[in-house]
Amino acid sequence: MTDPVITDLRRELEKARDALAATEKHLARHAEMNAALHCAERVMYSPLHAKVHAAMTGVDHALARTKPGPGDDQAAEESRRDSALVSVLIDLDRCVHGRHEGDDCGTTCGFRSKGNPHLRPGSVIGYGRRGDQIVMPNRDDKHDPAAWRRPAPTGGPDA
Ligand SMILES: [Zn+2]
Repeated sequence: MTDPVITDLRRELEKARDALAATEKHLARHAEMNAALHCAERVMYSPLHAKVHAAMTGVDHALARTKPGPGDDQAAEESRRDSALVSVLIDLDRCVHGRHEGDDCGTTCGFRSKGNPHLRPGSVIGYGRRGDQIVMPNRDDKHDPAAWRRPAPTGGPDA
């Protein structure tokens, strides 16, 4: 719930809550003044007073539901770090000029970017825990995590 939109909405709800509390107090004092003026034994609160009170209850409920939890900051930080790591992977097919493989690159690549000369699609760039291969995927598949892995060759790495 540390989304900036949620933070903005909570701030506006808190302002509305303050205004409603002041309105409720004003309406209550007005009703009490009228009762005193007419020497009434009972104070008659207006229907608007009840509506304001119900709105305050609704705001309190919304604020409680969107209250940031203790783990929200950590989750946001982890998400930010994961996104940065994904950006690194996505950049691995860029040519020396910063263009993704196949994109327009009017420099020494020629008409189209030739991509990363160090990591051609299909190149093995590492291994997983079970000996599966981590490979450079084809350009169109780079957003698919499965395209980055290939099963270990038959018999495993020690065969
Ligand atoms: Zn290039």
